[in-house]
Amino acid sequence: MHITVLGTRGEVAESAPFHSRHSGILIDETLLFDLGEREFLDERPDHIFITHLHPDHAFFVTGPASFDIPVSGPEAYDDAVTVTVIDGPAYLGPYTITPVPTHHSKLVKSAAYLVRKGGESLLYTGDLIWINREYHTLFDPVDLVITDGSLIRKGGRIRRDPETGVLYGHNGIPDLVRLFAPYTTRILFVHFGSWFYEDIEAAREKIAALGEEYGVSVSAAHDGMELETAGPVFPLGQSSLSRFGG
Ligand SMILES: [Zn+2]
Ligand SMILES: [Zn+2]
Repeated sequence: MHITVLGTRGEVAESAPFHSRHSGILIDETLLFDLGEREFLDERPDHIFITHLHPDHAFFVTGPASFDIPVSGPEAYDDAVTVTVIDGPAYLGPYTITPVPTHHSKLVKSAAYLVRKGGESLLYTGDLIWINREYHTLFDPVDLVITDGSLIRKGGRIRRDPETGVLYGHNGIPDLVRLFAPYTTRILFVHFGSWFYEDIEAAREKIAALGEEYGVSVSAAHDGMELETAGPVFPLGQSSLSRFGG
């Protein structure tokens, strides 16, 4: 599968080129995962899957919108845009899209998506604390994981609602590498928090170094990055931005 990373900015103010758009992952120019920016509609995907109903993943929950592309997500939404619940595998042409329940918010439901086409596979998560162990067999193994780069510190920022006991927030990048390293050889981070923008070059190196620690290839994505699910390991210590003059 051919992947275009449309956006890599988390829930922070826009401050840097190549990391200015909210979440969006386009597969083979036909399936779009997360709709963090209205302009992603210009790609004219056949189907859109939303990880959760936060505006940096579904711009239409805070802004007016109208379009005729089907949208699926972990919970229903019915306003100017309708989101249909996906609670089991969807079969679209050569693709099987399986939702995987995730922990992230106390107010909205969230899901990651496992996408298979032929022998190739991709797991894309939105914002993430953890995935229950019972679901890990779904992505054991997977060619590529694309996940949440909000926080670099171990443990991330996780809170517990005192009334319901529900956990919410984001885990740290080291914890997510530890979560996925047993199941894949390549992890790509998107959805960067403010830590990343303080020194982007140092941040990229920090992320790559975590891969070495856990024995997997780990990299930081940028807006417009293109890659293949079954591609080679990420080049170490080499900025893929250089060819853009960034
Ligand atoms: Zn969120
Ligand atoms: Zn987010």
